[in-house]
Amino acid sequence: MRQGSAGSGPWRLRRWFDYLLGVLLVALAAALSIVFHWLKPANLVMFYLAVVVYAGLFLGRGPTLLVSLLSVLLFDFLQVDPRLTLTVAYPEDLLTFLGLGLVGVIISNSAVRLREQVAAMRVREAHLAALNSLSHDLTGTLNLQETLDSVVWHIGEIFERKAAILLYEKQGLKIAAVSPESVLREVDWQAANQAYQDIVPTGNSTATISESSLYFVPLETFRGPEGVLGIGQRINGAALTFDEKRLLAGFANLAALSIERSRLEDQANQAKILENTERLQSALLNSISHELRTPLASITGALSSLSEDAIHAPINRQSRLELVETAYGEAQRLNLLVGNLLDMTRLEGGVFRLSLSLCDFQDLLGVCLSRFAVQAKDHPINVSLPDDLPMLMLDERLMVQVVLNLLDNAVKYSPEKEPIQISITQTDQDLVVQVADSGVGIPAMDLERIFNRFYRSERAHPYQGIGLGLSIAKGIVEAHGGRIWAENRKPKGSVLSFSLPLSSGRKTAD
Ligand code: ADP
Repeated sequence: MRQGSAGSGPWRLRRWFDYLLGVLLVALAAALSIVFHWLKPANLVMFYLAVVVYAGLFLGRGPTLLVSLLSVLLFDFLQVDPRLTLTVAYPEDLLTFLGLGLVGVIISNSAVRLREQVAAMRVREAHLAALNSLSHDLTGTLNLQETLDSVVWHIGEIFERKAAILLYEKQGLKIAAVSPESVLREVDWQAANQAYQDIVPTGNSTATISESSLYFVPLETFRGPEGVLGIGQRINGAALTFDEKRLLAGFANLAALSIERSRLEDQANQAKILENTERLQSALLNSISHELRTPLASITGALSSLSEDAIHAPINRQSRLELVETAYGEAQRLNLLVGNLLDMTRLEGGVFRLSLSLCDFQDLLGVCLSRFAVQAKDHPINVSLPDDLPMLMLDERLMVQVVLNLLDNAVKYSPEKEPIQISITQTDQDLVVQVADSGVGIPAMDLERIFNRFYRSERAHPYQGIGLGLSIAKGIVEAHGGRIWAENRKPKGSVLSFSLPLSSGRKTAD
């Protein structure tokens, strides 16, 4: 919003140009009146009148008066008898002169007033556009900081001044957003605090602490002032005009409203996050307790039967073995679950911290199968793997956890007696491990989602589980630089695969 002042360079030049143009126009009228000298003076005066009207409309008051005066003189000199003198033979010619002068004055006055009105309208229009653009931007901004930065940026653009927004925090006003390279001096802080306390404009171009180089307006909401908005001086030192102050008050109102909206939104979000966290925690606790209770109940049952057997009715060796196996299998399930829960909290902090060592995947698979033997007793497990598996740098404990999670799912989601196929293959860059079953399969739309924490597909609902195993497996595999994915199998069942890069193992093995 630039406004020229009467004293500024280009403005002064423009005025001189208007005077010069006025003189040239009168010269043109005189020239035309000489060319058309056979016309009557009453007609020739029209040339001068046209020039006076033009000057009145476009050149401003001063040049118009000059044009009117020169027109009267030249008309008198060139066309009124006695010619080539400034004397007047007939008094009625004086009326013509008066007419010329009056037309000039009236038209120039109305034109000047019209121009002033147009200029004021343009300023108002610019202010409205500025407010409109700010409110448009503010409706798009999401958080408090974006809102404040947007206000400061708009002030910089529209007022060509630096700005600062100070918001009230626990101990007083603090800078929340500021134009680049702005510094607030002691006196500016005083003015800002005064504006905040008294809820009135202070600082530069006011009667309160006018030594401050900033003009401060309070940011007031229905809950009271939230802070203050300060605007610096223009580089040429020009004071804020009345219109600019009004526009700034509009900016401050909009800013205050948006600040309040953002704060309320933040509060609502916090409340929602808290509520969600609490809901999640209680859901998690519920399903964990449920998951823990089942194996614990089986273990307790098996152990109590065994102890009763020791005291009262002896049971045969086969049944005793079965009871011990049940207790062991359930203890392993507990182990897996607790391992997953512990890994979940570790993963919460970012990625796993791996404790890598050079591993033979065949040995690792052996560990998994022996730990899983009891749970897998109702499912034949087939393993196919190449003869010369390379050594890999792995975190053995975590990788066992991955394989056990996949095996546990394969057993859990497929009917008894259905075989489980473990295949290990090697590509140029990766070792690929696949666990295939002939179970319930995974709905196509869930193939990626099942790796999200706590996500369980609808088909899994009749089975126990908390939706943690695959997300942990994903975290572990990715921490090793690998990838994990799920596919469905024909005619039924699913294949869970993961790849591990060979490069890390080779480098270390070399
Ligand atoms: P949980 O098995 O405890 O629900 P997981 O994270 O191990 O949790 O698995 C997430 C979901 O992926 C399961 O709820 C299930 O819907 C699906 N899923 C995983 N493995 C299989 C599988 N072998 N067959 C069918 N669905 C599976």
